[in-house]
Amino acid sequence: MTRYVFFGGKLLDVDAGTLREGLELLVENDRIAQVSEGRIDAPDAERIDLGGRTLMPGLVDAHVHVVATLVNLAENAALPSSVIALRSAGIMRKMLMRGFTTLRDLAGADLGLQMAINEGEIDAPRLVICGKALSQTVGHGDYRARYDNRPLHQASLGSLGRIADGVDEVRRATREEIKNGAQFIKIMANGGVASPNDPIHVLQYSREEIIAIVEEAENYGLYVAAHTYSDASIRRAVECGVKSLEHCNLITPETARLAAEAGAIACPTLVAYEGLALEGANFGLNPDSAAKIDTVRVAGLESLKIMRDAGLPMAFGSDLLGQLHKYQSMEFSLRTRVLSNQEVLLSATRISARLCGMEDEIGTLAPGAYADLLIVDGNPLEDITVLERHDECLSAIMKGGVFYKNRLAE
Ligand code: ZN
Ligand code: ZN
Repeated sequence: MTRYVFFGGKLLDVDAGTLREGLELLVENDRIAQVSEGRIDAPDAERIDLGGRTLMPGLVDAHVHVVATLVNLAENAALPSSVIALRSAGIMRKMLMRGFTTLRDLAGADLGLQMAINEGEIDAPRLVICGKALSQTVGHGDYRARYDNRPLHQASLGSLGRIADGVDEVRRATREEIKNGAQFIKIMANGGVASPNDPIHVLQYSREEIIAIVEEAENYGLYVAAHTYSDASIRRAVECGVKSLEHCNLITPETARLAAEAGAIACPTLVAYEGLALEGANFGLNPDSAAKIDTVRVAGLESLKIMRDAGLPMAFGSDLLGQLHKYQSMEFSLRTRVLSNQEVLLSATRISARLCGMEDEIGTLAPGAYADLLIVDGNPLEDITVLERHDECLSAIMKGGVFYKNRLAE
């Protein structure tokens, strides 16, 4: 049995928003076994002196696309699955090195990637998957040009979505994704930026189709996540039983209250628009898409205030594509323009863990949880940028009791 005892530092209590001193934490194999005020008696354990640093739970990014290896999703879908798999391993390794020990993939990642991670073939965070996102024709998952009526490359690993129209087809598509290992179902319920022919405000899928998808998912014990920006689209999603509301940039206070009452969780993704605005065009974002960025970017910060005031829990998402993944950690300081550091940390741990269906297993230092740990030089409750300066400020990264970075001995 591999055992470590961490001592001599401060443990971040995300729920209380405090650092706790004088505690010791025992890791046994892949789990946290004990957190104690006195010295932990474990003679065979390796004792690791934190040297006054902060020990905190690994971060959870609840909205990523690890198979989006290019900004241009149509080009991405045309690539061979083998190159997508290898590139996505690199994308995930970098996410792990930024301190993200769990990812919820919001379209594209498949069971094969999850198997490769679980078998230890690649160094990557835990991965929660939904398979392909369901999109209607001319929806956010339909990235074909107007004059292109060939079928979508939807069998390719590089395709984030699949097209399904009508109640029968969406039921079948939902069941197929569940068969293929989906842990929740993703639908495109509103126009989007990275797709060419759907303005932001268009509603996608009929109520009947969304209700059918929710029924199929819930029959299997799963929930539905919807890509949604406009207030009308968010409200309709909530009314149809969607539980995970992605983006939500244009939400109103009334809809935010309705969503909170319905037990939904929002997953804002502000850095996605910052990344696209900064460099999207350089990396092949088409002009129709680029013209849509500011519609959602400007409202993003305001939406955080609205959702916080309505008591709608917010997870942490980045939603970056291709070459823009490098901006992932910038989501922290974007959010702290509006929210407290503790609120942002809660998003990136406790609340995102709920969307992963792993509430007691990740995003916490409680005994029984996975030993997904970061050792941080600094206090993220006071200075959130320590998480953005990960190369410098993360002294160690552990996932499931295994160190993927450890500079403590240096
Ligand atoms: Zn989306
Ligand atoms: Zn997305």
